[in-house]
Amino acid sequence: MDTFVYNGQPARVIFGSGTIQQLPAELDRLGLKRVAVLATPPQEPEARRLVEQLGGRAAGVYARATMHTPVEVTEDALRVIVDLKADGLVAVGGGSTTGLAKAIALRTDLPQIVVPTTYAGSEMTPILGETRDGVKVTQSSPKVLPEVVIYDIDLTLSLPAAMSGTSGLNAIAHAVEALYARERNPVISLMATEAIGALAAALPTIAVEPDNREARSKALYGAWLCGICLGSVGMALHHKLCHTLGGSFDLPHAETHAIVLPHALAYNAPAVPDVMQRLRDVLGTDDPAMALYDLAGRVGARRALADIGMPESGIELATDRALSNPYWNPRPLEREALKGLIGRAYAGERPR
Ligand code: NAD
Repeated sequence: MDTFVYNGQPARVIFGSGTIQQLPAELDRLGLKRVAVLATPPQEPEARRLVEQLGGRAAGVYARATMHTPVEVTEDALRVIVDLKADGLVAVGGGSTTGLAKAIALRTDLPQIVVPTTYAGSEMTPILGETRDGVKVTQSSPKVLPEVVIYDIDLTLSLPAAMSGTSGLNAIAHAVEALYARERNPVISLMATEAIGALAAALPTIAVEPDNREARSKALYGAWLCGICLGSVGMALHHKLCHTLGGSFDLPHAETHAIVLPHALAYNAPAVPDVMQRLRDVLGTDDPAMALYDLAGRVGARRALADIGMPESGIELATDRALSNPYWNPRPLEREALKGLIGRAYAGERPR
């Protein structure tokens, strides 16, 4: 008999193709008359298009969202939002843009409508990671949860194939760790399994055919569920390692996840036989860690931390840092085994 606690996060989700057309109706529901549209610099044209569509209901654009939510960018955005007299936020983009909206909402309580265009999943979590003077501090608050999330498959078609692959693997990592989380529960495990199946099926198609709408729909659906997993239960070794590696060597977020995941899963495998069976069933393979390593190859992701900027001398440092203040993990952290894991991820070797 299972004993568990299930903590659901409130969310209104609109999912489909062309769903961005429902934005004005959602503004009405929330009583918003002058929203600020947030984006990263490359997605500014998308944000401007949205402002045009919204006519007088958009106060303007702030298109300087940056990876890892630096506090100085948030403060700059706050000044612009006050000048614009905005009464709400619309964030169009990936985790970086969502992070900016969440950081502003934390400080102002402005309502947020988030339109995700990657598979990062931040829109489903009460978690906000902010960087101040190069140090990332993470907190959890229901204040940062968006009021509405609009998933529009059409807006994901432009996500380049390589980025789609790593972003999708980043999402799978949330679901894999949810399956063996300390707070795991049957509802989240259902979503996690469904999400892993959907993404594992969709990502190889997207890699060769980025505008395949069926695959895009499956991937975005999977990413949504992965975001729920991330927002509902605690993460373990894999997320701790990615956090440590990303912060120590300034490595790109999704790529780091894509590389580390097979190794973290192989490390935990002996401690979670039931999870491994579930993964075997959904992935249709005897070796789920190897399947994720192969999936990274099929979607064109790099498989060695050495190739994304980690120095070899960092293996020892990363091991030390991962051992200090570790997250809960189903398998205790053993120094030599952990160092071996990081070494293999550094070199791009097969997981074992
Ligand atoms: P990102 O938001 O930085 O996007 C990467 C790049 O892709 C950006 O230049 C962006 O403009 C571009 N892009 C996004 N969607 C596109 C599209 N459809 N077409 C073309 N270009 C597109 O990357 P990300 O991986 O989505 O997010 C990473 C950030 O999110 C990190 O800072 C991470 O810490 C954070 N994150 C937070 C949580 C949370 O729960 N708080 C969860 C996941 C990720």
